[in-house]
Amino acid sequence: YYNENTIIYVDGEYVKASEAKTDLYGQSLHYGYAVFEGIRAYKTASGEVKIFKAEEHFDRFRRSCELIHMPYNYTNEELITACYKVLELNNMEEAYIRPLAYCPPNMTLKAASEMNVMICAWEWGAYLGEKLLKVMTSSYQRPNPKAFKIESKSAGLYINSILASQEAKTKGFDEALLLDLEGYVAEGPGANIFFEKDGKIVTPPPGAILPGITRATVIELCQELNIPLEQRLFTTDELKTADCAFFCGTAAEVVGLESLDGQAFAKPWAQSLGKVLQQAYKARVLEKEFDRSSVKVA
Ligand code: PMP
Repeated sequence: YYNENTIIYVDGEYVKASEAKTDLYGQSLHYGYAVFEGIRAYKTASGEVKIFKAEEHFDRFRRSCELIHMPYNYTNEELITACYKVLELNNMEEAYIRPLAYCPPNMTLKAASEMNVMICAWEWGAYLGEKLLKVMTSSYQRPNPKAFKIESKSAGLYINSILASQEAKTKGFDEALLLDLEGYVAEGPGANIFFEKDGKIVTPPPGAILPGITRATVIELCQELNIPLEQRLFTTDELKTADCAFFCGTAAEVVGLESLDGQAFAKPWAQSLGKVLQQAYKARVLEKEFDRSSVKVA
């Protein structure tokens, strides 16, 4: 992720990653009390490097901090400028950008009175790969929305994601799919889920999921392409009858599922609306025209 020349942003300064320090006596390390974002920069069709939906990511960063009572004294402009500067200082064009909000030393369980921000970036290919994924229903549920601010992209919450991913890999799958407390499909460990059935796209509503920025983009694309979309709860039994399914997230982008619990989806990916949305998403982030005529609406 970094080498001796990598530069990161830490509280207004640009420093070498290998020389940056943090305190070992902090709530962030001990209790997982930290907030992060995952953002991507693309070299767009015009040749310009652009951070995709930077405002939306920093709006969520602020909201994630506020939801867990971390004081937030930054403007989006300040932090977006810092992201571009980190890219420039590291000669990066296409990169994954990781802002992290963490707290100064404190061993109590009181909410933080101060916070720090660091921003780093690295070159990261498709997080879940390019291949269709073999997915298993996880034995882990998503965290209880009444036990946590689940819409806060908080570090501690990701232990749930690590457990689910690890379980899936140990059992020979590529990725996990987690259910909510009621047993409805929620999301992947680091991505939202959609499926296609009879020309319609379906995704779970907000409530037990991280409302992803990629999810919002896919919803916008469905509207633009006149693909009917529903946000509603569904079970894995229903999901297994789908024509196709896909995960989406900033790191993963749009990635198709081959099977769920060993049961393959009905349509070949190449003929699915998932594939259309995958291409439309790629075109959107690269600011390229997308050929709508390729979309067949049922
Ligand atoms: N759900 C979870 C649990 C995630 O970690 C992510 C990745 N941030 C997503 C969904 C997708 O969110 P986004 O599209 O904003 O990256």
